[in-house]
Amino acid sequence: MTAQTQTTQTETYEFQAEARQLLQLMVHSIYSNKDVFLRELISNASDALDKLRLEAFRNKDLEVEIDDLHIDLEVDRAARTLTVRDNGIGMSRDEVVGLIGTIAKSGTAELIQKLREAKNTDGAASADLIGQFGVGFYSAFMVADTVTLVTKKAGQAEATRWSSDGAGTYTVETIADSESVPHGTAVTLHLKPEDTEDQLHDYTDERTLRDIVRRYSDFVTWPIRLETEKT
Ligand code: ADP
Ligand code: MG
Repeated sequence: MTAQTQTTQTETYEFQAEARQLLQLMVHSIYSNKDVFLRELISNASDALDKLRLEAFRNKDLEVEIDDLHIDLEVDRAARTLTVRDNGIGMSRDEVVGLIGTIAKSGTAELIQKLREAKNTDGAASADLIGQFGVGFYSAFMVADTVTLVTKKAGQAEATRWSSDGAGTYTVETIADSESVPHGTAVTLHLKPEDTEDQLHDYTDERTLRDIVRRYSDFVTWPIRLETEKT
C-alpha cells in the first residue's frame, strides 16, 4: 500500500433523500449538454479561492501562501481521469460531510420535478434547467462513474478523502499522511467509458476542455491551467 492510499477512520454515509434523487437523475442523464459539469466544478474552485483570499486578509495568523491562487485541470488519458484542483480554502472533514452529502439549497425539489418532466420531452430543456438552477457538484456524475474529492482546509492539519459512485452512499476517510496534502481541493472524475462517436465530448482532450472553459468559465478571474499528460 502506498502512502497515498493510507487512510484512517473510513466511514460510509448514505446520501440524504433529495441528494439521492438528484444524483440518480445525473447518473442516468441523457442530457445533451453534459459540458456544464466543468462550469460547476470551476465555479466551486473559484469560490474557494475567493474565500481563501478573504480569510487571509481577515485572519493574519493564517499561514498560507496566497500569491499563486489558481485552478488546475489535469488529465490522465490512460486512467481516463480529469482532476479539477484548486489551492483555495478547502474543507474540513465535517464540512465535507455537511456540504457534499446534503443538498441545503432551496429549489432542489423544484428542479428535480422539472428535470423529471423535461426528461420525457427533450434533453435540451433539461440542460437549460441544469444551467438555470446550477446543480453544482453533483453534475460531475453526468460524466463520471466515480468521483473522488481530496481536500484540506487552509490552516488545518487534517486532509479528507470523499468518494462515491453516485449510487446511494459515499465514503469519507481521513488521510493518514495529511502533511503531504496541500490546502485546497482536488476533484477527480473517473470518466465514463469513451463514446468514440462523440469526440466533441471527450473530456480527456485538451482542445475540448479549452473550448468548454472558454464557453462557460470565461468570467472566472483566477488563472485556469490545463495540464494534459501525453500518453
Ligand atoms: P453551491 O456551489 O451552489 O453551494 P455545490 O453543489 O456546487 O453548490 O457545492 C456545495 C458546497 O460544497 C459549496 O457551497 C462549498 O461549500 C463546497 N465545495 C464544493 N466544491 C468546493 C471546493 N472546490 N472547495 C471548497 N469547497 C467546495
Ligand atoms: Mg457550486
